[in-house]
Amino acid sequence: MKTATSAPEAPADTPTAAPWAKPAEAVLAAVASRPRGLSNDEALRRLAQNGPNRLPEPPRQTALARFMRQFNNLLILVLIAAAGITALLGHWLDTGVILAVVLANTVIGFVQEGRAEQALEALRDMLAPKASLWRDGVRVTVPAADLVVGDVVWLEAGDRVPADLRLIAVQGLTVEEAILTGESVPVRKQLAPVAPDAALGDRLPMLFSGTMVAEGSGTGVVTATGADSEIGRISTMMGEVQELTTPLIRQMAVFARYLTGIIIALSGLILAFAVFLRGMAFPEAFMVVVGLFVAAIPEGLPAVLTVTLAIGVQTMARRHAIVRRLPSIETLGAVSVICSDKTGTLTRNEMTVTHLVTAEGRHEVTGTGYAPEGDLLRDGAKVQPGRVLRDLGRVAALCNTAQLHEAPQWRVEGDPMEGALLALAGKLGASPGDAALSVIPFDARYRYMAVLHDLPEGRFALIKGAPEQLLDRASLQATADGSQPLDRQFWLDAAEETAAQGMRVLALALKPHDGDRLGHDDLDQGLVLLGLTGLIDPPRDEAIVAVRECHEAGIAVKMITGDHAGTAAAIGRQIGLKRTDTVLTGADLDRLDDLSLQGAVVATDVFARTSPEHKLRLVSALQAQGAVVAMTGDGVNDAPALKRADAGIAMGQKGSEAARQAADLVLTDDNFASIAEAVRQGRTVYGNLKKVITFLLPVNGGESLSLVLALMLGLVLPITPLQILWVNMISSVALAMALAFEPAENQVMRRPPRRPDAPIVSRFILWRVLLVSILFTIGVFGQFALELWLGGTVEAARTMAVNTLVAMEVFYLFSVRYRHGASLTWQGAKGTRAVLMAVGLVVMLQAIFTYLPPMQRLFGTVALSPLQLLECAGAGVLLLLVLELDKRAAAHWKSLRDRAVAAKV
Ligand code: ADP
Ligand code: MG
Repeated sequence: MKTATSAPEAPADTPTAAPWAKPAEAVLAAVASRPRGLSNDEALRRLAQNGPNRLPEPPRQTALARFMRQFNNLLILVLIAAAGITALLGHWLDTGVILAVVLANTVIGFVQEGRAEQALEALRDMLAPKASLWRDGVRVTVPAADLVVGDVVWLEAGDRVPADLRLIAVQGLTVEEAILTGESVPVRKQLAPVAPDAALGDRLPMLFSGTMVAEGSGTGVVTATGADSEIGRISTMMGEVQELTTPLIRQMAVFARYLTGIIIALSGLILAFAVFLRGMAFPEAFMVVVGLFVAAIPEGLPAVLTVTLAIGVQTMARRHAIVRRLPSIETLGAVSVICSDKTGTLTRNEMTVTHLVTAEGRHEVTGTGYAPEGDLLRDGAKVQPGRVLRDLGRVAALCNTAQLHEAPQWRVEGDPMEGALLALAGKLGASPGDAALSVIPFDARYRYMAVLHDLPEGRFALIKGAPEQLLDRASLQATADGSQPLDRQFWLDAAEETAAQGMRVLALALKPHDGDRLGHDDLDQGLVLLGLTGLIDPPRDEAIVAVRECHEAGIAVKMITGDHAGTAAAIGRQIGLKRTDTVLTGADLDRLDDLSLQGAVVATDVFARTSPEHKLRLVSALQAQGAVVAMTGDGVNDAPALKRADAGIAMGQKGSEAARQAADLVLTDDNFASIAEAVRQGRTVYGNLKKVITFLLPVNGGESLSLVLALMLGLVLPITPLQILWVNMISSVALAMALAFEPAENQVMRRPPRRPDAPIVSRFILWRVLLVSILFTIGVFGQFALELWLGGTVEAARTMAVNTLVAMEVFYLFSVRYRHGASLTWQGAKGTRAVLMAVGLVVMLQAIFTYLPPMQRLFGTVALSPLQLLECAGAGVLLLLVLELDKRAAAHWKSLRDRAVAAKV
């Protein structure tokens, strides 16, 4: 059912009122524009006058709201309560310290959340849509925000309509308008005006901002932008509000919540135990419980994890990969198969026609780039084009949607392959003509494009497309003095031979036509084949390196292309794919049932002549085999496969908006190397998240163990609650933050992908957390007891216990940094700038904590002698040594076990 919104219409006296009820020419005149668009100056003037084409943004969350949100946190609330109770008890000092720490913590949380939000906003800006339009009579691509009323915009399948438009030309255009009308079936658009009171869904000559082109192409003049557009009137921007989180972080948050619950219960018990069984005074016992609370809850963890993620997202964006859905950053690290497009992703998409085949012979074409200058060679000698080649040049020029621009150097606006054909046309002496009478746009399912033109000889359909498609429809081949019956085998051989050199092959044909419209049926038979073009599209050098890197990382790389099997295999070999001897074509895939496909898909690396529907089947087959699949796509029909893939990757440059919206990741440079880089980053971020967890949990473990032990044994606490507050909320967080900046480990792309079903907290991490908790406890307790035994005061013993704990954390940080390699190396000792800054900061903080009189008064610390400091540091060194031994032993055991497994097989 079509529903009209009751949004108010523009007042009837404005020239742009109800543009759907007027002829296209009248609307163009009303907005003072022409079919070839506005001039640049005029567009700039209108932009300055009416503002950018943007929907009003939703009201932003205020800074105050963000600040208040920091208090929506159990630990903070408990601490505030504790401050209240200590104040009631008259322990002003404690109250002050607790409040200061709470404040410091909320400010840190506030600032970090702000930075993380900014990072996400920056990503959204990078994904801002673009529009292809006419300015000063040339087609250009500009940010959609720069559109003004009167601009003439060109749209094709997969594009998002950037503003409200009155169509001035359509070719088989259907548009999905669900977001406006709720109607899920695409609407077929037309040029003829409709009634002024037509409902929104019935305004057929209009395109509305925010809707998606499903099929065909069209040109329209902008009638309303930004808030004036239909969608602007009913809604503010539907900004995709992203939460900065991933499955790993969410699980840790749940874990933290459970932990908090358990600790609250335990604290109650311990409070009762201390007051009733041990006869401790309530205020003292209460402070112990607060200490335990702070000791046990990994409060800094969520904040540091979020920052780690935000930094990962930013690093990826800098390396041309924009994460649209944050959880996919973790998935990327587990990818085991990458299915990639060929053209533009593995190859440069810088096309040049170098070979021509006609019924009369072969030619080579010279010249580089898109300059329409070069020679025609036959057997190495320069020749002039004959009749067939001149016709071929005309088809190349007219059956074309691209444009060449000369300044500053020759470049293409539109499809590079079509740009190459325009350059060829120039070399053959043909030039682009007027707009076609009718167009069948290129569609990956049909693999050809056709236009209808009036030539001096009469009205003709001009066709270009995949050789097989055109050969099936052709009956004649053009010769110098007319035509002759088609020699099918000759052309198949020629196509095969050209493709085997890695060239893209395209056939060109024509057919006389009467009538004003062109449909697929008109081209079913009777084409006159003019010839074949061979286009080179060299592989990207970075892609070759990246494919090798993926193979080393245990990731299979598969190429899925609409191109000829011969071309695909040749390019596959050039970029170093593994199994290039067998190529599965779309037709082969259609013959296989799902089960045989699962077998075949693993054993094949090159898939050719596929249509977008095949991609979906391939993803499903690979996933059925347990693979974690990354899949690239650019066209509107690739969207289902991108959604289905574990990591859907869209092309930022040549990709359609439809593909981008379906994707998890968008590549700003369309380059395969950026996929490999994103996987590396994905693995790194995941590793860093785990490192943060491995680093922070034992600190809490060690402290709680120490406290509980002291309570049980009826001893004085080795660290006071306030001191614990200091360590957890200041020193530990400062150190852990350094892990967010950890670069990839050396070996990160030399190991097989992580198993998707592997538990997040692995046995190694559990063991580490336990071992280090115990070592921390021993260090803290040992140092405390030793100092007392040597005759020191309790204050001195506590100061030493705290400094020992922090020193152990510093050394533990160096250990955690390398999950796989040894930490005791020059490289490891040098650290990174972030690590050195964090360590420097913590040393300074500890010095203040230990030596500054006001701090001494607050935290009950005393100055330590150099020897005592050395003792504290010594504990850290010991810890590092023990952990290194443990790491080596684990590696040793693992290799023994692997060898035993290998021996058994
Ligand atoms: P790819 O996977 O390499 O991007 P496409 O699906 O774009 O492949 O193209 C598949 C085939 O369709 C090409 O090999 C070519 O024969 C034909 N083709 C591609 N683009 C056009 C076009 N603009 N006009 C006519 N035919 C085209
Ligand atoms: Mg393509």
